[in-house]
Amino acid sequence: MSTQSLLRPAILIISDTAAADPSTDKAFPILKETFAQDGAGKWGEPVVEIVKDDILEIQRIVRAWADSEDASSGQINLVVTTGGTGFARRDFTPEAIAPLIHRHAPGIVHGMLAASFQVTPFAMMARPVAGVRNKTIIVTLPGSPKAAKENLQAILKLLPHACLQAAGEDSRAAHVGGVKKLETDAGFTASTNGPVPVSNNHDHSHHHHHHHDHDHGHGGHQVPRAHTQPTERPHSNDPRLGAKARARSSPYPMLSVADAVAKILEVAPQPKPEVRDFGPDLTGYVIAEDIKAAEAVPAYRASIVDGYAVIVPDKKSSEVHIKGTFPVASVSHAQAASLPPPLESGEIARITTGAPLPENANAVIMVEDTTIASLTDDKTEEATIEILTDELTVGENVREPGSDIKLGEMILSKGTHISALGGEIGVLAAAGIQKIPVFRKPRVGIMSTGDEVTDITHSGPLSGGMIRDSNRPSLLSLLRGWRICEEVVDLHVARDTPHNELEEKLRAAFRTNDLDVVITTGGVSMGELDLLKPTIERSLGGEVHFGRVSMKPGKPTTFASVPFKGSSSGERESRLVFGLPGNPASALVTANLFVLPCLQKMAGLPGKGLERIIVRVQGRVKCDKERVEYHRVVVAVDAKDGKLVAKSTGMQRSSRVGSLAAANALLVLPQRAGFLEEGAECEALMMGPILGF
Ligand code: AMP
Ligand code: MG
Repeated sequence: MSTQSLLRPAILIISDTAAADPSTDKAFPILKETFAQDGAGKWGEPVVEIVKDDILEIQRIVRAWADSEDASSGQINLVVTTGGTGFARRDFTPEAIAPLIHRHAPGIVHGMLAASFQVTPFAMMARPVAGVRNKTIIVTLPGSPKAAKENLQAILKLLPHACLQAAGEDSRAAHVGGVKKLETDAGFTASTNGPVPVSNNHDHSHHHHHHHDHDHGHGGHQVPRAHTQPTERPHSNDPRLGAKARARSSPYPMLSVADAVAKILEVAPQPKPEVRDFGPDLTGYVIAEDIKAAEAVPAYRASIVDGYAVIVPDKKSSEVHIKGTFPVASVSHAQAASLPPPLESGEIARITTGAPLPENANAVIMVEDTTIASLTDDKTEEATIEILTDELTVGENVREPGSDIKLGEMILSKGTHISALGGEIGVLAAAGIQKIPVFRKPRVGIMSTGDEVTDITHSGPLSGGMIRDSNRPSLLSLLRGWRICEEVVDLHVARDTPHNELEEKLRAAFRTNDLDVVITTGGVSMGELDLLKPTIERSLGGEVHFGRVSMKPGKPTTFASVPFKGSSSGERESRLVFGLPGNPASALVTANLFVLPCLQKMAGLPGKGLERIIVRVQGRVKCDKERVEYHRVVVAVDAKDGKLVAKSTGMQRSSRVGSLAAANALLVLPQRAGFLEEGAECEALMMGPILGF
């Protein structure tokens, strides 16, 4: 049958009551409406029959529908029955239908029950069956019209594909475009795992207990949901099974970048506080508790200028002037050992910037507002000074104790990032804070995978399929540059050996190196040596949270957690694995997009990832109609108008690490056909500081 023509459904109402008086039936109109409303226009007018709860009657009609090859009316593609699936004495439907089924479809049963459990635990009281007879799919719905409708909605989106296959459509043709296309055709968003209707609302609250499920961004109600943990059903290839058992397309759902980041932030552990000694190495840490000043700054009354400490008379007795000549009674330098003697009325004291004022002094006159009136007898020092102005007020050029920082004042609040710009470090030092409550920085390791991957220290020419390991040094450099990790450990290279060096090295990384996160590159494509997912799922008992992301480059990016029994605490915790693609440009782009927000959260930051700005595009840039593309660019200031311009770094193939050389930003090219034209505005993610051209 052609894909264009409508599928033909048949509805069998199984009810003693309705058989006696068809006007009592409420199921048919509701189911008919469900096909029309939720069937995406794929279903024709349903055929209907009403029968008693009688096994032979039920079988007679279903046979008539499923066994006829009536060319004029066309094949019945789907039979749904309603009623008779419970435990009542006259509930016979499963017993009538089951023997008719040639090939059972427990997945459909599962889907319906899962949807019903979302609504009521009484789902347990249904005994549905489903399967294929000849070219017809048969499904038994419950008797309650509401439940029948909910069950049908739960499976309806997927049924057209199943019906076409059952009807004998060439399945190779149907799979052109892969699972993603099938999902899209069935009306599921590409970013969800499994049959989640697009139209559902986004209320997550009903199924938090399902959060082990891969789906997280588009929850819904009558959604069939898996009842097994991912650890019970690995998606990955079993590398022992050989060529025939190898999947030919990725079984992992394709997430959008935003959904992938949301998943990472959901899984990444909360930051853990610790106390560190003060020092300039605190750069990159995030303050874990509000910090109050332990000392007032300044601790004494200090001069702001070089000049002379004076006693400015009270404005009310205004006959007294400070303009005039005064003896220099003492000298106060900024030094720690002692304070100057008190100033007597009629004297002044020489004072340097930052030095303590003598007692009784209440202002400092700048040296510029004075001249020397006379020197001492030995001509080495000032004896008297003439003050040239009367315009000096009480308190002028004096920093009062605590006027910069009051004792006990909050100087850095929880969540403040200690930058490399010195301000935070400076204020901590000034206020005398020696023990700093911060969040622990994550400990991260970087590992390459692949037999071809050859260390830079390999001397002599490369042979065979050898390639230089560029990912490991570039990621070590990138992550260390973020200053967000306590340590970034070089974990060297795991060979693609079947005895699984990768497993050994991952275990050692968590156990021996006590790493929170391991970043691997390579081994996440669809090749038989792509061992990361099988190793995590099958050997380490871990959970792959996602294994594909809709982006270019970086599609096979994988994120997983692995259970780990903490050595010191003995507590069960989980450690994280990022499986970045092997291609060097992909590895760096995905590290920026996915690893950064994860480490930010673990280090106590909000996990926003790279900063987003708007730039103008220089030259036209080609977009990709399948995926959002992260085009490597140099963002610089346009000398003409001071605005930000992005210039491509050239050929963007994912193996070309040079596309990142000199790049300081990723231009976020929207997913569409054609070009972004010269001068167009576009979002960019800043990886490094803005440069001048
Ligand atoms: P894979 O995902 O292992 O199939 O790797 C994809 C591509 O990335 C292959 O061409 C690899 O040779 C290349 N590749 C993998 N690891 C590295 C690495 N550490 N440095 C540079 N290229 C790599
Ligand atoms: Mg490889």
